[in-house]
Amino acid sequence: MFSMQNMIKEAYRYASYSLGEGAPADYIPELAKADTKRLAVSITDLAGRTHSVGDSQERFTMQSISKVVLLATALRFAGFDGVFARVGVEPTGDPFNSIIRLETDSSNRPSNPMINAGAIAVTTCIPGATPGERFGHVLEYARALLDNPELDYDKEVYRSESETGDRNRALAYMMRASKVIDGAVPEHLEVYFKACSLSVNCEEISFLGAVLANNGISPRGGKMLIEPFHVKVIRSLMSTCGLYDYSGEFALRVGIPAKSGVGGGIMGAVPSRMGIGTYCPALDPKGNSLCGLRAMEYLSQALNLSLF
Ligand code: GLU
Repeated sequence: MFSMQNMIKEAYRYASYSLGEGAPADYIPELAKADTKRLAVSITDLAGRTHSVGDSQERFTMQSISKVVLLATALRFAGFDGVFARVGVEPTGDPFNSIIRLETDSSNRPSNPMINAGAIAVTTCIPGATPGERFGHVLEYARALLDNPELDYDKEVYRSESETGDRNRALAYMMRASKVIDGAVPEHLEVYFKACSLSVNCEEISFLGAVLANNGISPRGGKMLIEPFHVKVIRSLMSTCGLYDYSGEFALRVGIPAKSGVGGGIMGAVPSRMGIGTYCPALDPKGNSLCGLRAMEYLSQALNLSLF
């Protein structure tokens, strides 16, 4: 008999065949400590009910999934024109931390908000007198979007990333040199690194997926959290650019607007159906959670979720 709980159990079982493969990100030293045996799959439906199997309460950092929160926050403050004056909307096929197109693209703008350079440019659109105030806007919005008023960032991961984030500094200084962004680079990076370090669990990211699936309306309480046009922008960028340089293949195999992060999470939003969260910190060479990809593939096939 069909039940959502059984379906998630099967997705978990299918995903678990990849346990033991891949490795956690280690370029941020704190992330290398993650337990690669942890695995969780959660679905939040549009009535706001969350179903989970596995380590769904285990906390991990959002990393690149926060690019969705940063973009939603920036759109709220600066609007579409303000944000997309600084960043494009084209997929790259390059790794997430690539610098090359900042030099070769004629506008010098980063290609899209789902790669590091693009997310840093997006961060510069979030206003405030201090980085603390600016991150405060991100945190407050993240608490609503993930339905956890206690949500906060992980101080150890933040410190680890800020100590080792020279590549992101290089991206930001390149963009400042070509006048794509202005202002103090260390302040922009403080906001960006803290957003990457937001500490979440699998259920919470499935809730974020459900908000996006539900055209920006909270499936718990019915409040509009993201305006529908911004949801359309975010979901389309997730579809084309959300899984690093695997986005094309993911569209083909899974067909769900999604965003992954090197912390091991993948968040998916199936329009008018559900939000999906997966977590396992062992990554493939492109930076996507291996078990997470398998769980997404299973659910897409079993529930016929592909948009394509
Ligand atoms: N904080 C990470 C970085 O900037 C995010 C990367 C990711 O999850 O893709 O390198």
